[in-house]
Amino acid sequence: MSDELRVPTISDLASITIEDVNKFLSEKIKDASCPACTERSWSVIHDQTQLLSLIGMPTNGSFSVPPPAIPVIATVCVNCGYARVHVLGVIFQWKLDQSVAQ
Ligand SMILES: [Zn+2]
Repeated sequence: MSDELRVPTISDLASITIEDVNKFLSEKIKDASCPACTERSWSVIHDQTQLLSLIGMPTNGSFSVPPPAIPVIATVCVNCGYARVHVLGVIFQWKLDQSVAQ
């Protein structure tokens, strides 16, 4: 992994394909069993045209457009619905590192 992190743009993140996500997950996830039900069947939620995000909600009544957000992909256990997220910026950095290594 590179020590120098590049802050990805939205178009950088939108360039990440479902194939990239699946390769990232198969390389990084050592135990694919669900922490809730122990099944091993996951569905990946990622749409390059509309990124999922964790969105900040100010508690002081103010707002900003767009709101502060962390783009993510989600994986959902097909058996019990347990959901987890992975930050898309980390997947982007992994993809950059892969292209440098080749
Ligand atoms: Zn489960």
